[in-house]
Amino acid sequence: MKLIAKSAEMQSISESHRLAGKKIAVVPTMGYLHEGHISLIKKAKELADVVITTLFVNPTQFAPNEDFEKYPRSPERDYNLAQENGSDYLFNPATEEMYPGGFHSAINMTGITDKFEGEKRHNHFNGVATVVAKLFNITKPHIAVFGQKDYQQTLAIYQLVRDFLFDLKVVVAPTIRENDGLAMSSRNVYLSSAEREKAGVIYKSLSDALLVIEKGENRRKIINAVLHNTLRSVHEIKIDYASAADADTLEEPDVFLPGEHVILVIAVYLGKTRLIDNALITIPNDPHIKKHYFV
Ligand code: AMP
Repeated sequence: MKLIAKSAEMQSISESHRLAGKKIAVVPTMGYLHEGHISLIKKAKELADVVITTLFVNPTQFAPNEDFEKYPRSPERDYNLAQENGSDYLFNPATEEMYPGGFHSAINMTGITDKFEGEKRHNHFNGVATVVAKLFNITKPHIAVFGQKDYQQTLAIYQLVRDFLFDLKVVVAPTIRENDGLAMSSRNVYLSSAEREKAGVIYKSLSDALLVIEKGENRRKIINAVLHNTLRSVHEIKIDYASAADADTLEEPDVFLPGEHVILVIAVYLGKTRLIDNALITIPNDPHIKKHYFV
């Protein structure tokens, strides 16, 4: 695997692969790689000839009060993991390479990004969209692989690709979880061992809500109450939001109709650590027929 730090070099490598008729997939990450990231690299390898993993902790998607400085970093370990799992390139630019003096452009997103994460994390999706657009122009992919773990981010990326006519296909891969259901995240390292033991409650609350929907519940208030009640069983949890929403628009109707796709979205603080998770389900036509869902 080749390590690339300069955008111009990455662009010329990607261009030559394109000219040779190779299909390129990119996996954007902020590093501190875990099984979730690795599943995306493996998916990219299945779908393309050339896999570029990008590693960049993007300052513009963190608010000033957030964890940019202390975000966990392990570039050497990341290099080895990316290589072992089939990545052909690791694009790891310095901040000045991505945001050189004189960089004054930013993408401003509205709509799907106004709620939930966008409401709680000011400017977050503008930072994500700006860096992802740059990474697309640098790596010139045919395919870009993202995780369902950041569900609203996947909607934002679809929107970005539509709005700016990026000529690539977005692929979303399922959330990889620990044994107790906790979604893998680079931020899980912040949890104390006592907090870690309690973190499974996030998955439990999603599972409880999925179960009542499966049994025929379609009123948002009741579904949300199930999410909240389970989360509240752990006193150390502070709920940022926990809600059912339309999976395509993130609208929050009072009642979901049969056949509608619903996303359950959660953000909580466990101690000082902010964790997010989600689960997707289709409202059953007949409450007695179990529907496929995945979390
Ligand atoms: P991050 O490094 O946290 O910015 O994440 C980089 C990519 O990995 C994003 O597309 C995330 O959605 C994805 N990702 C993070 N955690 C997981 C997970 N547990 N399962 C699957 N994908 C994940």
